[in-house]
Amino acid sequence: MHYIVLDLEWNQCPYGKDREDKRLPFEIIEIGAVKLNAKKEIVDTFHELIRPVVYRQIHFRTREIINLSMRDLDRGRPFPEAAADFLKWCGPDACFCIWGTLDLTELQRNLTYYNMDGAIASPLLYEDVQKLFAIAYEDRRTRRALQYAVEFLKIDEDGEFHEALMDAVYTARVLQFIPDEVISGNYSVDYYRTPAGKEDEIRIRYETYEKYITRGFPTKEAIMGDKEVRSLRCFACGRSAKQKIRWFSDYGKNYLAVGWCEEHGFVKGKIRLRKNDRGQVYAVKTTRLMTQEEVDAIFDRHKTLKERRTKRRHGS
Ligand SMILES: [Zn+2]
Repeated sequence: MHYIVLDLEWNQCPYGKDREDKRLPFEIIEIGAVKLNAKKEIVDTFHELIRPVVYRQIHFRTREIINLSMRDLDRGRPFPEAAADFLKWCGPDACFCIWGTLDLTELQRNLTYYNMDGAIASPLLYEDVQKLFAIAYEDRRTRRALQYAVEFLKIDEDGEFHEALMDAVYTARVLQFIPDEVISGNYSVDYYRTPAGKEDEIRIRYETYEKYITRGFPTKEAIMGDKEVRSLRCFACGRSAKQKIRWFSDYGKNYLAVGWCEEHGFVKGKIRLRKNDRGQVYAVKTTRLMTQEEVDAIFDRHKTLKERRTKRRHGS
């Protein structure tokens, strides 16, 4: 097994969102990566500049971040060539690591654009080093900039940030600090290629919660009507939990429910609805046990929302 720590730089439409190519909102212009062995020792590096073909001017925001001109990039290679070399360099046993959640999604979107679908296995499990840093050193929830983590861990700053290879090296150095059990127990799933069918749906059990990622559905109504999506099982024993509060919409995008297990108490279900690139709706449902405090908060919240709805219905 190798860790492949990847960092990409990308450009976007210089003339604004409404003139972008919807199939490629972010065009990759630089690939930087570091290979580490199972002992997290750096064994190799990879760096390529990409010659852009979709956006031939650098967006002002990209220009503020990166230190590359179109002239630099024109010395780069076409994306399909560089990407093929990169994936070959990664090898078949790659465990991808990135800072945050975006780079692997954008890599796959760029691969799809060039009909190179399937070059990366699905489901794509990876390590989000930004999340791992929060788990190992902070409160789990906070998300810090890479530079913050580098300074926090007193890693030598011997290169510029926002240069793909250097960012990959910094991310790799942060990864070296993360205990192995934190890495293995907290991997992430990339949602770019959502499960194709019911049998491909993903269920992952973490230490304190379970995650279920559904296949794509045509509409929000279809997905919220699905029996499996609406089900609520106890995180501890897996038995069906009696729904004390049925799924309700909390600020539009999230749905919450509270269940009760005779043996393990209250169970919280949360459904986030998202859209994939094919316009389908899919759900990410998490299930966990609750503290009494959380139970009270959610009952309060449900009551408030219900009252508000009742008032609206009566026109006051
Ligand atoms: Zn139970």
